[in-house]
Amino acid sequence: MEVGVIGGGASGMTAAIFAARSGAHVTVLEHTGRVGKKILSTGNGKCNFTNQKLSKDDYHGNHPSFAEPVLQKFGPEAAVDFFESCGMFAASKRDGYFYPATGQAATVLNVLRYQLQSLGVLVMTDQYIEWAKKGKDGIFCVKTKEKMYHFDRLILACGGKAAPATGSDGSGYRIAEEFGHRVIKPLPVLTYLRSKEPFLKELAGVRCQAEISLLVQGKIVQREAGELQLNKDNLSGIPVFQLSHQGILAVDQKKKTTLLVDFLPGYSSREIENKVLKLMDMYGNLPVSEVLGGMLHKKICGAILHKAGISFDKTVGTLTGKETKQIVSLSKEFEFEIVSFPGFEAAQATQGGVDVAQIDENMMSRKVDGLYFAGEILDVDGRCGGYNLHWAWSSGYVAGCHSVNGEVKCYKSASVG
Ligand SMILES: Cc1cc2nc3c(=O)[nH]c(=O)nc-3n(C[C@H](O)[C@H](O)[C@H](O)COP(=O)(O)OP(=O)(O)OC[C@H]3O[C@@H](n4cnc5c(N)ncnc54)[C@H](O)[C@@H]3O)c2cc1C
Repeated sequence: MEVGVIGGGASGMTAAIFAARSGAHVTVLEHTGRVGKKILSTGNGKCNFTNQKLSKDDYHGNHPSFAEPVLQKFGPEAAVDFFESCGMFAASKRDGYFYPATGQAATVLNVLRYQLQSLGVLVMTDQYIEWAKKGKDGIFCVKTKEKMYHFDRLILACGGKAAPATGSDGSGYRIAEEFGHRVIKPLPVLTYLRSKEPFLKELAGVRCQAEISLLVQGKIVQREAGELQLNKDNLSGIPVFQLSHQGILAVDQKKKTTLLVDFLPGYSSREIENKVLKLMDMYGNLPVSEVLGGMLHKKICGAILHKAGISFDKTVGTLTGKETKQIVSLSKEFEFEIVSFPGFEAAQATQGGVDVAQIDENMMSRKVDGLYFAGEILDVDGRCGGYNLHWAWSSGYVAGCHSVNGEVKCYKSASVG
């Protein structure tokens, strides 16, 4: 059987490996000069390739339960075992986040390349796809600038639009649409959010632990905690990335979108108020800007006082009850209205993509028999923490196996070579 894979990224290489392990002759058509470029920049060059704590709830999309059967067949243990079977040592760091033991993303790419080579997968780079169709004889024809290819099964694994310099320029959506598939508007995800809040300028450079609530049209829709990074026109850091799916969707739909930042997540308002009252007693003659510096980062303190209209020189002992309450409430709920988000160049993944309502649980098209999909090209995006690469491996596994065997068993260590 001849299997063609369009796109030589994480999902395409995995699909190719499992199709080849199942006995097919496999060709990967990649339009850039090399496969797996994006993998090299993942996890800050270390590649967080899966996560021990993984469930369908770590994924977003218009059909959130779509990922579940795929994840059941290929979970985090399978991902670790798969890479170990390819010749890599995996190491778990920080609470179940898995990386290659070498600490180098290049290791992940290298072992995938060794596998492709040892399985005899034909990897064709610099292949610009002009069109792809299924003929009346049931054979898929793929026309590149130089050549015509023929396949019994075709797997589309072109990625989304994030980090287009790595090759994922969204051209896979056109191919999917030409096969009659619907594409849900792709938007960036796992990226920063922009705010015009004037006090951001004075907060620029602050990194602090915070709890952040995302409000859409005044309602809290998600809460995340972690290290917040404040820049002159945006909020960034892992908790903001985790909120970016819903935040970007809301901004795109022109809904009022706000981040409420709790700069003192470990303390209740009552505890903070009591602390301020104590400080008034202890250091009544000292300027409030100095005294609050024991509780909050100096720049956060400054922004709170500015926003509350309290002079920096005011002595802490002369704070009024109303001013004390303002300090407490701004340290627990500092509001940043979100006005925009960056382009795909600054995003780690894509939300939206090929509508999974038209794909079955074996990753096969419900419209074109023998056409499969894998990875980020689909309307499935994961949280930050190894979930997007895990989706690439797991959906690649299912597509690769099913395209050849017509069935997919749960991944078993013994089933790999
Ligand atoms: C900076 C950064 C850091 C990240 N870090 C992590 C991390 O640590 N953990 C994690 O889980 N996820 C991470 N991600 C996300 C993860 O890398 C992607 O979700 C994953 O690579 C998607 O795999 P894919 O194979 O579906 O798509 P891609 O990796 O984008 O691969 C698609 C491939 O298809 C090729 N292609 C596209 N169109 C065509 C076409 N028309 N014809 C032929 N070839 C085509 C592309 O050139 C590319 O090689 C990160 C992403 C970025 C940008």
